[in-house]
Amino acid sequence: MTTNQSPISNLQSLTILNTPVHAVTVADTLSLTRQFMAEPRLHQICTTNPEFVMTAQKDEDFRRVLHEADLCIPDGIGLVWASRWLRKPLPQRVPGSELVYHLAKLCAQEGWRLFLLGAAPGVAETAAAIFQKKHPRLVIAGTYAGSPNPAENAAIVRRINDSRADMLFVAYGAPKQDKWIARNRDALPTVRVAIGIGGSLDFVTGKAMRAPRWVQNLGLEWLHRLIKEPWRWRRMLALPRFALAVMTKT
Ligand code: UDP
Repeated sequence: MTTNQSPISNLQSLTILNTPVHAVTVADTLSLTRQFMAEPRLHQICTTNPEFVMTAQKDEDFRRVLHEADLCIPDGIGLVWASRWLRKPLPQRVPGSELVYHLAKLCAQEGWRLFLLGAAPGVAETAAAIFQKKHPRLVIAGTYAGSPNPAENAAIVRRINDSRADMLFVAYGAPKQDKWIARNRDALPTVRVAIGIGGSLDFVTGKAMRAPRWVQNLGLEWLHRLIKEPWRWRRMLALPRFALAVMTKT
């Protein structure tokens, strides 16, 4: 592990198993988002968790995307545990599934146009209606399920550009969503912040349920997800593999 100073606001970043993670809180993330929105280029935010780190060990393209992202938030209690083990504790977990609510609120306050891309057909529309009910001033620039398939890329880019979106949520799951943003970062001139949000819109709409708060506080949200979505077991083997790698390779 190494500790670096990031160019943005002297932000501390850790490198865990050659994967960057920024030592930010939810409040830091929102203040950085404001800074990003003030600059006329797309800034990519990734919601790094142990699965991301293990995928990046084998997937060079994904590793590059994470290194080139403007901000990698620590989404995953495993990263917080690893940072403590490495004696460079991250201040807290910043779950993408919570951040989406804060970002929607910020968009409403600032008049930024929000585009929701991805998730199953209908989910983004329902999520948009839920956000707008909470924040009546929120402008939804557009919603579209689409697909991360490269054949659809140009049409989706056109749709987002026509919408004049300022902020973009991409819900295609990692690493597809993060690669999608990276490959289109120069093709979306109005977007200043784009973030891969995984299954967050499924949580917003109630299609999937987050663990109760006390389970989250015990750091056991991953176990709740495994019980609710047992077909994830193979993907979730990344967690013990991550723990072992941190303890033996860093
Ligand atoms: N998804 C999609 N198109 C795809 C693959 C996934 O819209 O080709 C959506 C899926 O409906 C879900 C999200 O991407 O809303 C990924 O959810 P998952 O729970 O796998 O992501 P995680 O939160 O684990 O990153």
